[in-house]
Amino acid sequence: MFKSKYLNDVMETVTKRNPAEPEFLQAVKEVLESLEPVIEAHPEFAEKGIVERIVEPERVITFRVPWVDDSGKVQVNRGFRVQFNSAIGPYKGGLRFHPSVYLGIIKFLGFEQIFKNSLTGLPIGGGKGGSDFDPKGKSDNEVMHFCQSFMTELSKHIGADTDVPAGDIGVGGREIGFMYGQYKRLRNEYTGVLTGKGLTYGGSLARTEATGYGLCYFTEEMLKDAGKSFKGATVVISGSGNVAIYATKKATELGGKVVALSDSNGYIYDKNGIDLDAVKQIKEVERKRIKEYLTYHPEAEYHEGCSGIWGIPCDIALPCATQNEIDEESAKKLVANGCYAVAEGANMPSTPEAIAQFQSNGLLFGPAKAANAGGVATSALEMSQNSMRYSWTFDEVDAKLKDIMVNIYKNTRDAAEKYGKKGDFVAGANIAGFMKVAEAMMAQGIV
Ligand code: GLU
Repeated sequence: MFKSKYLNDVMETVTKRNPAEPEFLQAVKEVLESLEPVIEAHPEFAEKGIVERIVEPERVITFRVPWVDDSGKVQVNRGFRVQFNSAIGPYKGGLRFHPSVYLGIIKFLGFEQIFKNSLTGLPIGGGKGGSDFDPKGKSDNEVMHFCQSFMTELSKHIGADTDVPAGDIGVGGREIGFMYGQYKRLRNEYTGVLTGKGLTYGGSLARTEATGYGLCYFTEEMLKDAGKSFKGATVVISGSGNVAIYATKKATELGGKVVALSDSNGYIYDKNGIDLDAVKQIKEVERKRIKEYLTYHPEAEYHEGCSGIWGIPCDIALPCATQNEIDEESAKKLVANGCYAVAEGANMPSTPEAIAQFQSNGLLFGPAKAANAGGVATSALEMSQNSMRYSWTFDEVDAKLKDIMVNIYKNTRDAAEKYGKKGDFVAGANIAGFMKVAEAMMAQGIV
């Protein structure tokens, strides 16, 4: 499979060790493929076992989360925290609450997080956690009881200089608030142990907007290099959560017209451009399905099912929903309809076959690790502000975020070029992210 025997051996061991975790194996394979020229140029990485160490989490924590629902019934969920790699800083990464969560999903996300966090240029290691709890349809009271039980165990394993969780799918401001309250109560300590906190209790301005804004800053830079921009472009965005909402806002500000958004039931198409206030009201206030958009805009279209969104003709596609949402067939539709740039707001939303379609047809392709790193980068800025007991203004944080995203693009592009993969930003992001972690691991001995 790989030219390098070393990488083949590592892949074989990982596959044997994690046979029932396809998403994790998919993420590992993609990184190892990118590393071929690096391993050739740096035999010392193989000598010191860097790759076989980097694919094994430093620590995996699995725990029971018992709670009582509104009808008085006892419910039990499973909680996870994977502390994947701390070579360059404390573990950092979100918590995902979704029924699809199992160890393999958290490991794939934690593995991706190592390289993403490294790319930000800030001192944060890689981790991820979550639960198979489904916040959808639960009352505020039930969500609070679940979050308190989840944090009661998680609090034993995290800390402002140890491991700093944040949000991801199913974990937003409400959940972070409940978990922060419980942590503080258990520890009697007011500290930056979570990011994505509310602005009244240590959160950072622009953190809510950061992933979506950062995605657009990255995309704009990638487009600029190719003589293009958002101006006048038709944009399709999947999802309707925090990432999709703020990607829509920034893409529109940069001159694009966003015509579609989705949720796990279906998608809306509004040829006049999405009315973001209506979407925010539906998703953030009413917590309802995207179909409700028709009550605000009866002239728009709603279609059941998610994959149809990729059949809408567009110039730029920003998948911001979930993993593997663009398969080969959807990618072919985007290519056939003349789409020229895809950048990933979600984690691993394109299958390997979809990426092959984009790259072989000459589309600009910004992989998640690079393109959506703005969220975690701003989390790191939140950690800095907490440590300083200080708050930057919105414009200060936004300017830092923009600088970080422009640098991520440049480092990704340059790493690809340096290792003979010009224009391949998947390889570039994996290589640039890997190099810093590998060098730190080399310096710290076999640990
Ligand atoms: N869940 C986000 C991500 O995938 C943010 C993580 C964080 O802010 O720690 O990067």
